[in-house]
Amino acid sequence: MENMALFLKALHFAADKHRDQRRKGEDASPYINHPIHVAQILTEVVGVEDIGVLCAAVLHDTVEDTETTSEDLEREFGSRIAGIVAEVTDDKGLPKERRKQEQIAHAHFISPEGALVKVADKISNITDVADHPPLDWGRQRRQEYLDWAAEVVANCRAADPGLVNHFEAVLAKSKQALDFK
Ligand code: ZN
Repeated sequence: MENMALFLKALHFAADKHRDQRRKGEDASPYINHPIHVAQILTEVVGVEDIGVLCAAVLHDTVEDTETTSEDLEREFGSRIAGIVAEVTDDKGLPKERRKQEQIAHAHFISPEGALVKVADKISNITDVADHPPLDWGRQRRQEYLDWAAEVVANCRAADPGLVNHFEAVLAKSKQALDFK
């Protein structure tokens, strides 16, 4: 029950931080649907029960995309959860292209816990790119996103093999969906 309380606290925290944000897809779904999806992928696909990882999954975009700081997360959820989120947070000080390159390079060094969140995040994103792409993304941009996500995941040495298999299956489906558009 203590675990459930912590998880719900993280969910509430993330929902509050992302409350004014929407996903870029045509359906403009509430942003929080995405971190929830990431946690759900982890429980459904690889049976993750580690509450710290599930909390990090729902919190994973708070530092990158809201005014939340790493210190806020550490104070509210402790250093382990804050550390996992930090592992999957881009350096916003870098230009976008550089950040994408950094993700590929940095994936080599990510911990098993960070890799769980990272790969599940990419699964959620490539699902969206195929099913609800951002309105202004043409086919080529979507194709490039899928290729980039595949490179990041391929570099996650510590990733769970079952989760990587699932990523590859979703990637194949997303690529197929693009071919028919
Ligand atoms: Zn994300």
